[in-house]
Amino acid sequence: MQRRSFLKSAAAGSLAGPAVVRAQSLDGRLPEIKWRLASSFPKSLDTIFIAAETMAQRVAAATGNRFQIRVFPAGEIVPGPQVLDAVKDGTVEIGHSASYYYVGKDPTFAFDTAMPFGLNSRQQSAWIFNGGGLELMRELFRGYNIYNIPLGNTGVQMGGWYRNEIRTVDDLKGLKMRIGGFAGQVIARLGAVPQQIPGGDVYPALEKGTIDAAEWVGPYDDLKLGFNKVAKYYYYPGWWEGGPQLTAYVNLKQWNGLPKEYQTVLEDACMVGHIDMQTRYDAKNPKALKELVGSGTVLKPFPAEVMAACYKATLEIYDETAAKNPRFKKVYEAWRKFRDEQLQWFAVAENRYDNFMQATRTFGQKK
Ligand code: CA
Repeated sequence: MQRRSFLKSAAAGSLAGPAVVRAQSLDGRLPEIKWRLASSFPKSLDTIFIAAETMAQRVAAATGNRFQIRVFPAGEIVPGPQVLDAVKDGTVEIGHSASYYYVGKDPTFAFDTAMPFGLNSRQQSAWIFNGGGLELMRELFRGYNIYNIPLGNTGVQMGGWYRNEIRTVDDLKGLKMRIGGFAGQVIARLGAVPQQIPGGDVYPALEKGTIDAAEWVGPYDDLKLGFNKVAKYYYYPGWWEGGPQLTAYVNLKQWNGLPKEYQTVLEDACMVGHIDMQTRYDAKNPKALKELVGSGTVLKPFPAEVMAACYKATLEIYDETAAKNPRFKKVYEAWRKFRDEQLQWFAVAENRYDNFMQATRTFGQKK
């Protein structure tokens, strides 16, 4: 009876003003929740960092500020690479990270971000949201006490900054390059010496010549860090990051404790942040690239021979990893089938369209 009279008064109230009624109904049913989000990224990597803030703002707006998520940059609660553990152990309720940071725990984590010669950002989103990828990744994350939600993609990255030209595979021999994860293993197989260096230390290392090359993200972020001042050659593409995805990690107990409405709001807000990040990069990169080239940067594609050798080494590493790790094997086989179908489809209309439009060379000309 009480509930019925509440509904009646709510209906009467809606004639006066729907906003008030909604607030009343929220008051009656939904709790106030405050979460802390540990980001793996510094504020200076604004395009990536903002995605978590965008998500948090949407969550707050959709719940009348009842569900608040405060975003902390890397290092304020835990260092960037420890976000997964912080969420797993309940130090924070939620995190924002790149899952390939955790390949030391299980190489299967890389599928959640990017694999060398893997998916571009459209294909990664297709695999995750509608190609069975999210289910496979949730199986993996469940073992770490985490509910994972995609939150951002940078789009294909650049192949990085080099003090000297890369003309042949032999030029990789002895090359000291800041590059991580699977890609580091790949170039190591071709004689290069991968280095793990935090973002802030890359510039001085490249300037002093402690390293010969470094990859970071793409024109927008690379220009901000000024890599063009300490290395002349800017290669493309970043074949190890065709469409790297970032992910929100929610502590599983906290996730299960959320009202269904908040779960929906949180997932939807992550989707907004996911799309927002990609569009920010796509909007900002062209101008930044022009500025870099204008400042004297020499833009170069990796030679086909180098790409082919890296591809071959990548396939060897995948086969070896699959032979050792059944979980990796299961995801790899499903992922590879999906990628190959995507490549066949993208080779038709998408590729013809892009190639034609780029070949017209009418862009950038004055009318
Ligand atoms: Ca990168």
